[in-house]
Amino acid sequence: MENMPGRKINNKTLVDRFGRTHNYLRFSITDDCNFACTYCRPDGNSCTKSNNILSVDEFEEICTVFINLGIKKIRITGGEPLVRRDFNEIANVLGKFNIEKAITTNGLLFDCYFETLKKNNINRINISLDTLKDERFFEITGNRYLSRVKENIQLAVDKGFLVKLNVVVIKGTNDDELTDFVNLAIKLQITVRFIEFMPFKENNWKFGSMVRHDDILQNISSKFNLIPDTLLQSEPAKYYSIKGQKGRIGIISTVSQPFCDNCNRIRVTADGKIKSCLFGHSETDLREALRNKQDMSEFIKNSLVSKALKHGGKKPFESNNDVNFNRSMYSIGG
Ligand code: SAM
Ligand code: SF4
Repeated sequence: MENMPGRKINNKTLVDRFGRTHNYLRFSITDDCNFACTYCRPDGNSCTKSNNILSVDEFEEICTVFINLGIKKIRITGGEPLVRRDFNEIANVLGKFNIEKAITTNGLLFDCYFETLKKNNINRINISLDTLKDERFFEITGNRYLSRVKENIQLAVDKGFLVKLNVVVIKGTNDDELTDFVNLAIKLQITVRFIEFMPFKENNWKFGSMVRHDDILQNISSKFNLIPDTLLQSEPAKYYSIKGQKGRIGIISTVSQPFCDNCNRIRVTADGKIKSCLFGHSETDLREALRNKQDMSEFIKNSLVSKALKHGGKKPFESNNDVNFNRSMYSIGG
């Protein structure tokens, strides 16, 4: 790792050349999914062969090394993490670690796993839901289980999970539902986060299909009295409470107002590649290092050396015609 002049770097923390400490690991445990969301997995692409996916033991070894390097929070994601057949074992591994634990899911199988999640203190749950309309849900996800997802959101609230909803806002697809989602945040007393549509491999992203932070904010502010919340520096969302209500909203403006300056995230894909930036090309093969019994902590530290300051070193997306530079989101782990 490069040392910044005058900066004392602790060997047990993951600091990049811009002085950003990485203490949050997003770990994809599968690139398989029971949904085929148009913006993420448009052709319902097939998943990686199981022998190329990290085993539960490998998951545990890798988490341990990361935690020894200062990781304080692990979020399991995918693909859809709850489709993994040995999910209970993965959750039991995570339960052993005394760190903050979280999961991102489409919510469909939550009713089968909430006890496992609770038992292992995986209390923070982000559930993705882009529409409250039946037909539209089918068009976006390719399935008709909207009512079960809604019931599972209610179940997560009732069981005391810290619930956030993730809504990817796409112009002409669901941008007429912002008010309905804010009302849902109020009704369930949860946080609903609106996410700018991001470009990934073959996901039909166009600059014009994105609804920017400012437009989302203007739309919602015209109907609700929003009060900006104090920011946690490394939080990707800008949060707003709704006057007189317990629910709140967030806007994740990765494209129009990137939060790269305070990035504290590092990712591992289901096939064991480190991605130090969501939008970066570079990947480090941790699975091979592990299977060859090499020192994984060196690989992890080295993966940060090339991390760019912003958007994986890409030009602003407005002027970037080639947006097919990356893996698909389902195979990175969102
Ligand atoms: N299957 C789980 C789910 O849907 O929550 C976890 C994986 S999914 C890749 C993680 C998050 O990435 C979801 O909230 C999803 O909406 C978001 N996502 C996927 N593709 C995206 C895109 N092109 N732009 C913005 N967010 C995206
Ligand atoms: Fe699956 Fe999540 Fe991607 Fe939808 S957003 S296709 S649920 S991985």
